[in-house]
Amino acid sequence: MDPIRGLHHVTAVARDPQRNVDFYRNVLGQRLVKRTVNFDSPDTYHFYFADETGTPGSVLTFFAWPNMRRGVRGNGETNTVAYNVPVDSLTFWEERLKQNGIQSNPIETRFGQNVLAFTDPDGMGVELIEVRDLPAIQHWEDGPIPQAYALRGFHSVTLWLDEIGPTSALLTQGMGYLAAGQEGNRYRFTGDANELGHIVDLVHRPGKMQADFGAGSIHHIAFRVPNDDAQVNYQSALSTAGYRVSPVMDRSYFHSIYFREQGGVLFELATDTPGFLIDESKDTLGEALKLPAWFEPNRSEIAASLQPLTLNPVEKVSAS
Ligand code: ZN
Repeated sequence: MDPIRGLHHVTAVARDPQRNVDFYRNVLGQRLVKRTVNFDSPDTYHFYFADETGTPGSVLTFFAWPNMRRGVRGNGETNTVAYNVPVDSLTFWEERLKQNGIQSNPIETRFGQNVLAFTDPDGMGVELIEVRDLPAIQHWEDGPIPQAYALRGFHSVTLWLDEIGPTSALLTQGMGYLAAGQEGNRYRFTGDANELGHIVDLVHRPGKMQADFGAGSIHHIAFRVPNDDAQVNYQSALSTAGYRVSPVMDRSYFHSIYFREQGGVLFELATDTPGFLIDESKDTLGEALKLPAWFEPNRSEIAASLQPLTLNPVEKVSAS
């Protein structure tokens, strides 16, 4: 079976849709490439933030659930999503975050790379990690951040786990990841196929508190499979290995299967195809509310049930 090609997207929960868009788009400089609804609860938004075109491995998505209480970080969930950034950009980010009311931790070094950690306005863990050989993505030219500082897709995710054995076995034996080292209680695994989002870190926290799901929690992490055939192969192999795997679901921009790994974290395998340009042109990505065909007959009711959203003007940072 083909090894997994790194992360496809990460999906988390935010409370206030406007605050979520203002932070990821206007402060971090991620393009809102899709504005749709949660297919299981169409009176709430589902936002996709990514590079200019929605390259898999750069896509952070949010369910905006205004009535959700705040979650608590703990074992059995994905704790942090980390982005690649250019070397020597962390002092810029430290200052930019501070100007926007976000206090970051002191810069630390991990596996030889500088890491700036902070929490987003909902309390989700985010890290920016300086990487020498940056992966290729599509830079958002109309965004606020010049390329010298801009986020370059995902570096990694970090899972907090009571036991790491079953999860590491799944990654290495079932998904094509390689064990790549240990620092303290952090165990690193890398995919061999891809430079974008190809790292998974497991943090071993035996006996520590379990996570309590809510706003600021990461709902699931999705890994890349190239196409539907590869997905079906994984579906049957994972079922044979004892996982309860969902049927294939049509998510409009990709096809998905879901299963919960033994550490408690919800995993998804998502196809690269058909992608985010299937129902909008590159120039207008994210501007209109997009709905799957089965919701179109109810478009006006759905649109009326959503909070109004403004795409505030982007203030470009000068490159010097
Ligand atoms: Zn997903």
